[in-house]
Amino acid sequence: MLKLFNSLSRKIEEFQPIKPNQVGFYICGPTVYNDAHIGNLRTMLMADILRRALEYNGFQVNEVMNITDVGHLTSDNDTGEDKMEKNAKNEADVLAIAKKYTDNFLNDLGALNIELPSKMPKASEHVPEQIEMIKTLIAKGFAYESDEAVYFDVAKFPQYNKLVGQNLDDMKLGARQEVVKDPKKKNPVDFVLWFKAVGRYQNHILKWPSPWREGFPGWHIECSAMSRKYLGDNFDIHAAGIDLKFPHNTNETAQSESANGKPFANYWIHGEHLLINEGRMGKSEGNFITMQTLVEKKFNPLAFRYLVLTTHYRSKLNFTWESLAAAQNALNNLYQEVSSFAEPKVGCAQFEQNFLEAVNNDLDTPKALAILWDLIKTGEFPTSAKAQTLFKFDQIFGLKIKETWELAKKIPESVKKLIDERESARTAKDFTKSDDLRKQIETAGFFLEDTVDGYKLKKKY
Ligand code: AMP
Ligand code: ZN
Repeated sequence: MLKLFNSLSRKIEEFQPIKPNQVGFYICGPTVYNDAHIGNLRTMLMADILRRALEYNGFQVNEVMNITDVGHLTSDNDTGEDKMEKNAKNEADVLAIAKKYTDNFLNDLGALNIELPSKMPKASEHVPEQIEMIKTLIAKGFAYESDEAVYFDVAKFPQYNKLVGQNLDDMKLGARQEVVKDPKKKNPVDFVLWFKAVGRYQNHILKWPSPWREGFPGWHIECSAMSRKYLGDNFDIHAAGIDLKFPHNTNETAQSESANGKPFANYWIHGEHLLINEGRMGKSEGNFITMQTLVEKKFNPLAFRYLVLTTHYRSKLNFTWESLAAAQNALNNLYQEVSSFAEPKVGCAQFEQNFLEAVNNDLDTPKALAILWDLIKTGEFPTSAKAQTLFKFDQIFGLKIKETWELAKKIPESVKKLIDERESARTAKDFTKSDDLRKQIETAGFFLEDTVDGYKLKKKY
């Protein structure tokens, strides 16, 4: 039975789906004004591992990840510029920026072997749904209009702080109080559902007609409207990075539960941050690293996946290049070990059981990795059994263990011979001959890379 830490109850709970064998799963996706950094990608990996763990347990997962391309302002306090419009002069610019960074994001997901969600809806393509929800909120008395915006009336939703679990007064509202300028805003904690294109937002590029004046939606309403459209009023799991718990996820809950009159997500899963120099890696902090930098430095993107697996998702992970190099090393060793494994046959039941227990214990991936290495090292089983079990583990790890093994099997005898000859030439320090042999190997369709632990062979595609 899968157990997960639910941020809502602040307890580890047994996961019980609403519908048997099916899971409705929503994850807050990227704001596509810039490349994702590896901190953002740690959260996407957390969601991917959770999804794979659900699938491993036999659930069919309907995963929805939004793409934010309008309404996310530079401050979470409903102030500042729209992030998407910072470097744009017109609508074509906004669309081009969104497309470029959405494509880059999809490439990052692919490089990290993250399974694509069933749906990736864009906020800008769901404005009518957001307007409908705001209309409902006004009709039910949960929202009000000023000259500048439509606000959610927090005082009407007494459980507003349930996700954060603190009194409203203790929550980080100070900053917000300072920036309140709208005289018709009732309470500093009220947040924007709809920005009217007036005052500082008069020249906002993306605008839609609405019952309250032309304008654009606030950031939080998109997740409420799109999760309702694709998963229904009440669904199973909502995931995000820990920083989104407040205000974003708190506001989503307030909107959805008020509009729908039903509980929103049953389980809230929040992933801890990736740090750099012990501080949060963030776009606004300007201390971020992207996948492109990792690849330029010749790391396999899956080394970052491995690094993320070494730490529990509810613990902070401080990124260093040394730790990434160690992860790359471990991954290379794993590939090296597996490459000589026999055809998979009858797995190792006890290891599989221990692995499932670790995964089902709130996704204990560090323990699961330790079990993987115990399996590799044990003399108790033949490699055919190890292969069978490792390939199963990899349904969750996603480290392409089977693909690497298959590739190793496919090396033609002629290439294997060239490799052996090159190894002998290198041992004899005959570098002219070894370079010549490397070129022959390349001509045969393989790249040979020297690593600290020996060579690594990659097929040319
Ligand atoms: P954004 O593109 O800023 O809207 O963020 C996308 C996702 O990345 C959200 O779920 C954030 O919580 C998450 N996130 C942002 N910074 C970090 C970080 N340093 N470590 C882990 N997740 C992060
Ligand atoms: Zn969201």
